[in-house]
Amino acid sequence: MLFDNTKRAFHLKTDFDLKKALIIFKLISSKRLVSIVSRLVYFLYKINMSINFLFKDTVFKQFCAGTNKQETLEIVDQLSKSKIYSYVHYASENIKTDEDLDLSLKQILSSFAFSKLNKNISFVVFKPTSLGFSDIYQKHSLNKPLNSIGKESFNKIKFRFEACCKKAKDLKVKLLIDAEESWIQDSIDNLTESLMEKYNKKNVIVYTTIQMYRKDRYDYLINLHKKALIKKFKIGVKLVRGAYIEKEFNRSRLLGYENPIYSTKKETDKSFNKAVNFILKRLEVFSLFLATHNEKSIYNVIRFMSKNNISKKREIYFSQLYGMGDNITFNLSHLNYKVVKYLPYGPIKDVIPYLIRRAEENTSVSGQTSREMELIKKEIKRRKLN
Ligand SMILES: Cc1cc2nc3c(=O)[nH]c(=O)nc-3n(C[C@H](O)[C@H](O)[C@H](O)COP(=O)(O)OP(=O)(O)OC[C@H]3O[C@@H](n4cnc5c(N)ncnc54)[C@H](O)[C@@H]3O)c2cc1C
Repeated sequence: MLFDNTKRAFHLKTDFDLKKALIIFKLISSKRLVSIVSRLVYFLYKINMSINFLFKDTVFKQFCAGTNKQETLEIVDQLSKSKIYSYVHYASENIKTDEDLDLSLKQILSSFAFSKLNKNISFVVFKPTSLGFSDIYQKHSLNKPLNSIGKESFNKIKFRFEACCKKAKDLKVKLLIDAEESWIQDSIDNLTESLMEKYNKKNVIVYTTIQMYRKDRYDYLINLHKKALIKKFKIGVKLVRGAYIEKEFNRSRLLGYENPIYSTKKETDKSFNKAVNFILKRLEVFSLFLATHNEKSIYNVIRFMSKNNISKKREIYFSQLYGMGDNITFNLSHLNYKVVKYLPYGPIKDVIPYLIRRAEENTSVSGQTSREMELIKKEIKRRKLN
């Protein structure tokens, strides 16, 4: 099978790295353990107790590319040798004040500079909540009036989004804008659409993210396509299933509204596949960035490409997170598909919330964790026999 070549997938990992990765995935497959450890880590983190030593050679090394630019560039170079593109992300999620948001903008703008150092960095990404506060996005999404401070905050968000797009255009790098919780997403979508309209006239620079676990997203995609045809712009789509399933469920239950997320994985898969087909049939308008570790979804795309003679040089990217899905990343790039690895980096203390999120997401997507363990075990066994 295409994604089963573990020799290729793990050629950058030592035997020791593999054994460590196996233990990490085993630990994070326990929901109870992840929940207890996360709470403990957040507590220690809040009282400023340094626990970096616990993370440095374990989860940090597994899921982050480095603490600084230099270390991260080493990983980018390694991946380049296998024709894999990278996108780097300063993964600090520790934002409380307006100054933090300004600093975060600076960090995002500085990650564009990476692209000058290695031509295989062709994307930059940001999370909207690293450029603005959730409550402002939420009020704007609900069309609620903002007071003067709120208006100023929103104008700053617009300024920060625009600054990133302008930098992307100037440096000829593509910009991915992450999707977050449904209750703040309308505002993010409005901003992103207006920027796609402005910056994606000839080529795609700005990519929106569409979460196909949401019941309303297929219709959203169709409407976005209609708008693009009328207003004559191109659409970049990072297509994902969606990462906030438990949060969405809990909030809808607490506030008593219908959960916007499909109630079964099967429905999410169906909606994801439908969206992929819609996009692939309209590549004159769309650029697709398929962010998934789901092997079946990827098979569907490459089968569609081959059946319809779609060149691998078209704007169809496959993307996996650093530390996960290496069997997909390396085996796809070997076949000359465009593959992009997401490389989060930053000082350990600042990326701890990202790491906890990674652990929690892995716990809730148990199939993924067991697939990672199965592949690692297979490679350990293969190495023993050779
Ligand atoms: C490069 C990259 C970038 C990403 N960026 C974002 C982003 O910007 N925003 C974001 O929200 N997520 C993002 N994600 C995470 C993504 O949305 C998924 O959570 C994650 O990739 C797992 O989905 P999958 O397609 O890889 O695998 P799969 O294992 O096939 O799918 C798991 C996903 O299916 C859905 N699901 C699981 N159980 C159910 C259920 N019972 N009912 C309904 N749906 C269910 C959930 O979305 C779950 O995450 C990103 C992922 C990658 C790889």
